Amino acid sequence: MHIYIVPFDDFKKGELNVLKFNLSRIFGLVTTLPKIKIPRNAFNSLRNQYNAYILLESLPVFHDGITLGVTKQDIYVDNLNFVFGLAEMGGKRALISTFRLDPTFYGEPFNKELYYLRILKEALHEIGHVLGLSHCKNKTCVMSFSNSILDVDKKSPFYCENCLKKLYQV
Ligand SMILES: [Zn+2]
Ligand SMILES: [Zn+2]
Repeated sequence: MHIYIVPFDDFKKGELNVLKFNLSRIFGLVTTLPKIKIPRNAFNSLRNQYNAYILLESLPVFHDGITLGVTKQDIYVDNLNFVFGLAEMGGKRALISTFRLDPTFYGEPFNKELYYLRILKEALHEIGHVLGLSHCKNKTCVMSFSNSILDVDKKSPFYCENCLKKLYQV
């Protein structure tokens, strides 16, 4: 499975390289593409957040793989205060935001390992949706739904046996 990582705006190269490395251990081929601009109409000044759908839809589509957009901005969908990410279920594109994965967002000291682990979990979760997986009831499975950062930290960076079985059936 070829994963194309597309950073929005000022995503740090170091963070991209760590994500690329971690994903390549799972999916094999991972390519990092040049950064693209966030569409202007994605910003909602009332919420001071970016519309996740508009970002997701601005990502390029690759026929031989999955596109993973990454942004540092805070993103939302209409009926939720925020989202960690968004994906086209069974489609081609996924998006994650690192805004609320950074420990400093919660007033905690920066912790590189924790931060990168959270980014990997959310990337695997959204890519899982693109691969057709829905939310999993197993709280340790990376496909379990995360309402808060506590949920993100509770789950492992792995697909559970059931989810893996579904992946191999596709
Ligand atoms: Zn989900
Ligand atoms: Zn699962």
